[in-house]
Amino acid sequence: MNTIKVNGTTGLGIYCHIPFCLKKCAYCDFSSFSCLSEDTIRLYFEALHKEIRNFVEENKNSVLPAVDTIYFGGGTPSSVDAKHIETTLALLKEVFVIKDDAEITIEINPGTLTGDKASRYKKAGINRASVGLQAWQDFLLKILGRIHSQADFIRTMKILKNTGFENFSVDVMVGLPGQKLADVMETLGALMAFSPTHLSSYSLILEADTPMANWVEAGQLELPDEDEERQMHWAVDAFLKEQGYEHYEISSYCRPGYESRHNVKYWEMVPYLGFGLGAHSYFKGRRYGNVNEINQYCELLMAGKSASIFEPVMEIREMMSEWMFLGLRKLGGIRDDDYSACFGESFFVRYGEVINSLIADGLLAWDGSVLKLTDRGQDFGNRVFMAFV
Ligand code: SF4
Repeated sequence: MNTIKVNGTTGLGIYCHIPFCLKKCAYCDFSSFSCLSEDTIRLYFEALHKEIRNFVEENKNSVLPAVDTIYFGGGTPSSVDAKHIETTLALLKEVFVIKDDAEITIEINPGTLTGDKASRYKKAGINRASVGLQAWQDFLLKILGRIHSQADFIRTMKILKNTGFENFSVDVMVGLPGQKLADVMETLGALMAFSPTHLSSYSLILEADTPMANWVEAGQLELPDEDEERQMHWAVDAFLKEQGYEHYEISSYCRPGYESRHNVKYWEMVPYLGFGLGAHSYFKGRRYGNVNEINQYCELLMAGKSASIFEPVMEIREMMSEWMFLGLRKLGGIRDDDYSACFGESFFVRYGEVINSLIADGLLAWDGSVLKLTDRGQDFGNRVFMAFV
């Protein structure tokens, strides 16, 4: 078996998509499937392993950085038999050079983790968990169509703690139908008892053709209005900062030193590889993504073909644009010096007019070296990001 040759100090990130869930949530339009047989799951992992081996074969003469982050996302990676995660991680360790201090994360949904699974993850080298709670209140979990209850979440936390997982993130959501500010605060208050190192707070986005979008459209559910949703966001922000968390990306908070090293790569345009259904990669200056249909994905790989659809080689203009709007997601902002080191000129050369107009509107702040979102800019993030496209 070939292995990747390594060089360079900036680590490589690897994402593996596990597209299986026990049941589809009412708001979800991700690449995930429920009720698939164990045979399908086994075939999927065979195809996933083939994709990894194919990549290594095709790049056997390339010199790549050592891997410093691996992320099993989904879907619900914790819903499948732990052996699939173990064999995938073993394969990655066989063919890539993985740094000793690599951050290796798995997404977990409450209700799918057992003590046995948690210890096997730990033994396999997983050292970070990302747990999807969304809300503390059972009535909200029901509306969302989540498979778990508050009690399941508490059990999952106990399992993680007992297995020695100290580094874990919890996802929460704001702007849910029927959710009040008091519910959001109760969720955060309850979470503090578990001392997560990281929290992600997302606003519900209604995706077309999901059951939730249809219920809202039919008037069966009502969303909080925009002001209420923003109030929830700022209440989360104030509470977590008071508790010592840093707000380091629009949706992400962490204890000092516990940023998601993997996710930061997406905002800093560092190369990463995505394996699995619909997974995206940024590698050798090109973006590409895999097909989204599971049978097609498996058939292509099992027939020895590629499942990737390549985008044209990125032009320098596109790279500049991505560098700006992805980087501005980080609350610490972007440095003109870093931009100049990448592109050989100040970002004011291309974007001076756009930047000055966003500063005039109070959406961006410039201190002479760093450009970043203001509080108002966070409320109108999409307007800021689109201005650089
Ligand atoms: S658990 Fe996540 S991926 Fe699975 S259906 Fe729910 S939202 Fe979608």
